[in-house]
Amino acid sequence: MNRIHCPKCKSGNVTHRSRQKYLFRSAGCLAIILLCCLVADGLRNANVDGVVIIGIFGSLFFSSLSLMFGIYYVVKGIRQKQTNYHCGNCKNAFQTGLILQHLDEEDDILRSIRKQRGSGQ
Ligand SMILES: [Zn+2]
Repeated sequence: MNRIHCPKCKSGNVTHRSRQKYLFRSAGCLAIILLCCLVADGLRNANVDGVVIIGIFGSLFFSSLSLMFGIYYVVKGIRQKQTNYHCGNCKNAFQTGLILQHLDEEDDILRSIRKQRGSGQ
């Protein structure tokens, strides 16, 4: 797989952002909530003891946590209008990144940048 690089600083520290990715995560949170509900429901009919109470409160805790993350990812997904990339190095957001296939090529670009900087001014 080709790595996407930042067009501004040529860093490979780039994260991909898409609506599908966020909605997929919120669906994952929903699955955790459902699982916690099943666990809590199963424990409700069991004899009440310390373990059962910890189990019920634990699943309530995890389901509310998942609900928060689920809503967060849905909002992020709605706000993410189109797929883009975000550079972790210079915080630049861009739609089309540099695709560098070989490490040699990357070195060449870095070398030419250094050359430009050295000869410029
Ligand atoms: Zn960058």
